Amino acid sequence: MKNLINTAWHEKNKLKMPTTLAERVKWHEAHLKACRCRKDVPPTIAVELKKQGKRVCSRGHLYRNSPPCPICYPGYRKGKQ
Ligand SMILES: [Zn+2]
Ligand SMILES: [Zn+2]
Repeated sequence: MKNLINTAWHEKNKLKMPTTLAERVKWHEAHLKACRCRKDVPPTIAVELKKQGKRVCSRGHLYRNSPPCPICYPGYRKGKQ
């Protein structure tokens, strides 16, 4: 089993408390790109991302293309990823 956590990234990107919501949104977005220890974002972050016009599925996965969410439906689109 590969360890999916990108510890180097986490070390570099520790959130200092207290953080603003905007900071946490940025952190989670960067985190999804840099690390695979979790694929979802918390509901509060999902709400903010949706306000920015981003696509977040009901389970908190951020994705770029058209629905459905590729993480919830991995077999739906063939090819990439
Ligand atoms: Zn992580
Ligand atoms: Zn999903």
